[in-house]
Amino acid sequence: MSDAPAPAPIVPLPVRRRRLAHESTDSYIRRLAAANGTSASTVRLWLLEQGILPAGFDRDEWFAAWALLAGGSAARRRMRDGGPRVTERALCVRCARGEDASGQLTGLGLICLKHRVWIAPYDGGIADAASHRAERQFRAELVPAGLELPSAEMRFAQRLVALSVTPRWIAAHHSAGGTRSLPAALYPSQVAIASALFVRDGLHEIAREQDGGNLVACTEWIAAHIDRLSPVDEPWRAGALLGHAARTCAGLDTSAEFGHRAITNVLERLSR
Ligand SMILES: [Zn+2]
Repeated sequence: MSDAPAPAPIVPLPVRRRRLAHESTDSYIRRLAAANGTSASTVRLWLLEQGILPAGFDRDEWFAAWALLAGGSAARRRMRDGGPRVTERALCVRCARGEDASGQLTGLGLICLKHRVWIAPYDGGIADAASHRAERQFRAELVPAGLELPSAEMRFAQRLVALSVTPRWIAAHHSAGGTRSLPAALYPSQVAIASALFVRDGLHEIAREQDGGNLVACTEWIAAHIDRLSPVDEPWRAGALLGHAARTCAGLDTSAEFGHRAITNVLERLSR
């Protein structure tokens, strides 16, 4: 038996906070500490000094201590790591009641449907009906197909739209769509393109027709259909660039693996 005094029991912090939907554990801990006038690092030192946390503690031990500090329902709800931090971003400020919170918003696009505002960057802009429809389409159609905002497919669609719009078009969308950031202005067209290319038809159709397909056929199909896929004002920009890229790449690598990843490579070459 050791004579070392037993560590003090953890009692809940005086100010409670509810964990928000989609909020990451790290964000919750940060917010809870701030509400109690302290910080996670100060609490960590105290826990070490009290012998509650052992030196070299792991994340499970860290979260277990915070579950007790949080008290209430948070203690019953197991606190744990959220997994790969691929989509950690700010939560809707209104959902967080004005506090600074973040989480892994898998399955969510750029709009909070509850509050009708753009999530990131949150700037108070109210999303219009077309943007709302895009958000619903993203959640209902693209997410079940395995696409998320950081996916290569979504980034590709965004680049394609960006190639096809002018500053005048962006300004018009800022005033009509309640948007104040470029990703928000591009979002409805981005969703439309991603849906057409990667979910509904487009590349999948070509893949069947071409029996394995090739980069040129795929890219030229996009160039020919860009104006049908997306409400942009200068589709020829994307079409011309993609057509040029297809011809260039055909001379370099005709055996390129078919598919959107090859096209993404084309755009990455273009954007360098
Ligand atoms: Zn919200």
